[in-house]
Amino acid sequence: MAFEIVTVPCLSDNYAFLLVKGQRAAVVDIPEAAPILAEVAKRELTVTDILITHHHADHIQGLADLLAGVGGSVRVIGSSIDPHRLPDLDLSVGQGDSFNLLDSEVRVMDVSGHTIGHIAYYVPEAHAVFTADSLMALGCGRVFEGTMEHMWESLTKLAALPPDTIVCSGHEYTETNARFALTIEPENPELQARVQKIADARSRGEATVPSLLSDELATNPFLRAGLAEVKSALNMEHESDATVFGEIRRRKDSF
Ligand code: ZN
Ligand code: FE
Repeated sequence: MAFEIVTVPCLSDNYAFLLVKGQRAAVVDIPEAAPILAEVAKRELTVTDILITHHHADHIQGLADLLAGVGGSVRVIGSSIDPHRLPDLDLSVGQGDSFNLLDSEVRVMDVSGHTIGHIAYYVPEAHAVFTADSLMALGCGRVFEGTMEHMWESLTKLAALPPDTIVCSGHEYTETNARFALTIEPENPELQARVQKIADARSRGEATVPSLLSDELATNPFLRAGLAEVKSALNMEHESDATVFGEIRRRKDSF
């Protein structure tokens, strides 16, 4: 049976996701419960699992309301290295772990940097990875807790997934990310084309998330920090990939 991925807009610019198989669903992140519960009711789904990416309030604060709203027995899954900041978990997971979800395999990737203990969930059968505030559409999360090297390492892991992987990230920040990306690679034709598509989608009120990893590899400046053309555009030909990434991330912080 095939997966369907449902994007659920929450709060002002957050996304939760439903990973649906038949009439069963897993929820990824809970910025707020109401929009998720509405989607679950509309589709007459049974929620079996809730997957948490990281401890920030805008990704977990709807948990109690969601649990109360769906009833039944639901497994809550999150990072094994962040128990002091996460709600009570039924399953704690970390880098390299895999577990069964809706009769399919999920592989856990540690993608720390935005926070220490941020994890991503890769679901090979769905061709999807849930990245929240690590890799984002044309961007990446701010590096609050890890080092630039640590975040670069995390992004490098995600970049190595199959290019047809669907990147389900946590926020609709893409238009701002697009304006910033053009300051790094103004001459990148694929970036130019993508920026136009993003503007069109937003003018129609459409989400730009999820995105495709192949598009991120071709246009996302944070994934492209190791490329010669990006280094030379920044006059950083002789710097390490992580140092160039750090420079791009710092520029974005003050953009
Ligand atoms: Zn966050
Ligand atoms: Fe967030």
